[in-house]
Amino acid sequence: MPRYEYRCRTCGDTFELSRPMAESAAPADCPAGHDDTVKLLSTVAVGGSSAAPAPAPRAGGGGGGCCGGGCCG
Ligand SMILES: [Zn+2]
Repeated sequence: MPRYEYRCRTCGDTFELSRPMAESAAPADCPAGHDDTVKLLSTVAVGGSSAAPAPAPRAGGGGGGCCGGGCCG
C-alpha cells in the first residue's frame, strides 16, 4: 500500500499515512486531530533532484498536426 505524506495547516505537523491510491485525495486528520491538512508530494519523489522528464519529441508524431507542415514556424 503506498504511503502518502500530509501536512497539517493548523499545527504545521507532517505525517504519513498508508492508504489505497483511491483514497489518496481523501481528507486526512493529523495525529493531533486537526482536519485542515494538505497532501504533500510522495516521499519517494523527494530527493533534491531538479531533473525533469524529457518532453516527447515533436517529430514523427503521426498525429497529423499543423506543425508537420511547417505552418507553425
Ligand atoms: Zn494538526
